[in-house]
Amino acid sequence: MIIVMRVGASETQIESVISTLNDHGFDVHRSSGSERTVLGAVGVRPEFDPRHLQLLDGVSNVHRVSEPYKFASRSWKTEPTQAKVGDVMIGGEEIIVMAGPCSVESEEQIHDCAKHVAAAGARILRGGAFKPRSSPYAFQGLGERALIMMRDAADANGLAVVSEIMEPSQADLMIKHVDMLQIGARNMQNYSLLRAAGRTGLPVFLKRGLSATIQEWLMSAEYILAEDNPNVVLCERGIRTFETYTRNTLDLSAVPVIKAKSHLPIVVDPSHGTGIRNKVLPMARAGVAAGADGLMIEVHPNPEEALSDGPQSLHFYQFDELMVQIRQIATAIGRSIN
Ligand code: PEP
Ligand code: MN
Repeated sequence: MIIVMRVGASETQIESVISTLNDHGFDVHRSSGSERTVLGAVGVRPEFDPRHLQLLDGVSNVHRVSEPYKFASRSWKTEPTQAKVGDVMIGGEEIIVMAGPCSVESEEQIHDCAKHVAAAGARILRGGAFKPRSSPYAFQGLGERALIMMRDAADANGLAVVSEIMEPSQADLMIKHVDMLQIGARNMQNYSLLRAAGRTGLPVFLKRGLSATIQEWLMSAEYILAEDNPNVVLCERGIRTFETYTRNTLDLSAVPVIKAKSHLPIVVDPSHGTGIRNKVLPMARAGVAAGADGLMIEVHPNPEEALSDGPQSLHFYQFDELMVQIRQIATAIGRSIN
């Protein structure tokens, strides 16, 4: 931390700040210029709240120079992490496409989806069994029945499975059926859920919260990593801004920012990121071009009849077109897609 003292701060005030820092275990380096004194506090104290210093007499401002997260940071691990999901590696040279319906609705729907997306090159089947709906009256998911149907459909087509966990009490059930646990945007800061998901040992797909900064998102990843679970995959799914044309604003700049700050893989979800079917393809292309390690795409055999997120779900023919186009972009940037 850097503590900048006010112009004219007294020696007593400076001494008092130094002794507070020492009390908290920091080594202090003092630099006194003609006008101001600046203190450099050295030491790793992730639990220390810099606001304590801001309140002391004579302090002008306080800057944190190190990140508040450790295991998620590039400085702690320089090599990119590759997360193993079933037989699939996320974070390597291959860009991984995970696709499927928003919600698992029936045997026929999930089997049709799995067959189609696998043939087009997807590697992971997505589908909700427990749905975090904005309205309590909207379809809430088929629960365990959905997980069983999805596992069958994925196995029949050589796909891995990702599905959302909404509560710690669902962990035992989820472990039986899925290869990766999804933490939804609305639960990104549900710390007991993050811990429970981390403890399962399964890879965790962590969506960015609706209004979360990148730092808050990485702090949530830190909760999972701190449970000794290294397999965290981040997902940019759009954030809340003043724009209303799209459902969310897909923050693609998060991709290179995450790559600089963290070793964790990052996936882009242009379906929730835009909320509009005909905006998904261009933003999928952009996501790959930005350097994403994967895409999550909602697809439905009959989107007009979907029980959730129909307007943002692709028809099969649109998904095929998307795969053709993103393969060309992947090649152009030295990566590949199944
Ligand atoms: C989903 O993937 O269907 C979902 C609910 O996503 P999010 O948490 O990003 O809204
Ligand atoms: Mn959805």
